Amino acid sequence: MTDKITAVKGMNDIVAPDSAHWEWLEARVRDLFARYGYRNIRTPIVEPLALFVRGLGEVTDIVEKEMYAFEDRLNGEQLALRPEGTAGVVRAVVEHSLLYDGPKRYYYMGPMFRHERPQRGRYRQFHQVGVEALGLAGPEADAELIAMAADLWRELGLQDIALELNSLGQPVERQAHRQALIAYFEQHRDQLDEDARRRLYTNPLRILDTKNPAMQALVEAAPKLLDHLGPASLAHFEAVRRLLDAQGIAYRVNPRLVRGLDYYHHTVFEFVTTSLGAQGTVCAGGRYDGLMAEVGGKPAPGVGWAMGVERILELLKAQQRLPAAPVPDAYAIVPDPQAWPQVMPVLRALRAAGLQVLMHAAGPDGLGSMKSQFKKADASGARYALIFGEAELAAGQVAVKPLREGLSGPVTAQTLLPVAEAAEWAARLRPAGAT
Ligand code: ATP
Ligand code: MG
Repeated sequence: MTDKITAVKGMNDIVAPDSAHWEWLEARVRDLFARYGYRNIRTPIVEPLALFVRGLGEVTDIVEKEMYAFEDRLNGEQLALRPEGTAGVVRAVVEHSLLYDGPKRYYYMGPMFRHERPQRGRYRQFHQVGVEALGLAGPEADAELIAMAADLWRELGLQDIALELNSLGQPVERQAHRQALIAYFEQHRDQLDEDARRRLYTNPLRILDTKNPAMQALVEAAPKLLDHLGPASLAHFEAVRRLLDAQGIAYRVNPRLVRGLDYYHHTVFEFVTTSLGAQGTVCAGGRYDGLMAEVGGKPAPGVGWAMGVERILELLKAQQRLPAAPVPDAYAIVPDPQAWPQVMPVLRALRAAGLQVLMHAAGPDGLGSMKSQFKKADASGARYALIFGEAELAAGQVAVKPLREGLSGPVTAQTLLPVAEAAEWAARLRPAGAT
């Protein structure tokens, strides 16, 4: 035997029954996005490295130390696995001039890659669902897309998700604030940790984001960006707040919320929960009016958010909001291989009529006894067993046996049904209320 090959650290297989939860969540999300007029966009997982270096900023955590970057062995191109979705969407929008006939609203879902220390809620391959509104400059776009996230929590039945909001203003205002911040931190240089010293002149804003408890007091008293905003930025921020208020969406202004990426302008926000331990941010986003030009396009506004699918699923689990695992409608018991030519067309007809039907099939030791087939039928969770015994088939019939107590469908006791008319009686095996 050769050595077992295992998955890359921090990258997970998602297998049934868990994968059913993923599909369920994705379906709920798609349904909501459609109601807001958001359309799907699918961009490559591999992009030119330069897209993220330029788009996200050289001194961000992602670009400095989390990126899976590599050289194409065949042509030497510098590439990267996407660490987030927005840069790729914006690249596609610029490349295909997608705003030529007006603003666009897009959503995406898929894997992202960051070389982080794996822990609960933090993986190296993780999944995001994200939305981007492009070509929309006004506060109503920000407020609409924040509302969409709030609707999602409500529709999923999630509790304990709080919205934190801030404004990063515009580059000139950030510049002024940056000078004030540097001056302030220089005065308190002895209280800065190593990370903060390193960032002092490259990205002092990120010092505000520190998780070091020893620096909290220092950071709390630091100059606030909100105090450096001019009238236009303040007006945008206040309009977003008013529109959230008007929709009954609660939030807390957090002047220290800065977000990890450089491309944000004006509104930034996070949805955070206390139910997941340290990895409590489930969704984050903001306005990125500078990004389009950064990747070589005509300047155009944009705003979006991304949520961490693993964290949402964990929250759904913790709050017992995940649906029960799906079960087949029927499990076909086939005692004799001779019956297959008669059985398989019947099962196809049932499936064509919309039923989920699992056929018993032989393992390495053959089909197994009737008793073991019944055990499998039970374990499958199916609501009915279809028994294709010799005597039944000889009479052109199949025995339908309810496997669960309290079935409310029309077939509540063992019944013989004609195999030739499967399509006609299929509906009788569906759970009551299902369509
Ligand atoms: P954090 O501060 O937790 O590192 P971030 O600011 O790096 O988050 P974003 O880039 O804003 O995260 O990504 C949006 C969302 O994606 C996060 O709020 C989180 O839910 C999820 N996310 C980010 N990184 C990971 C990861 N490594 N594993 C799982 N989910 C993640
Ligand atoms: Mg991070």
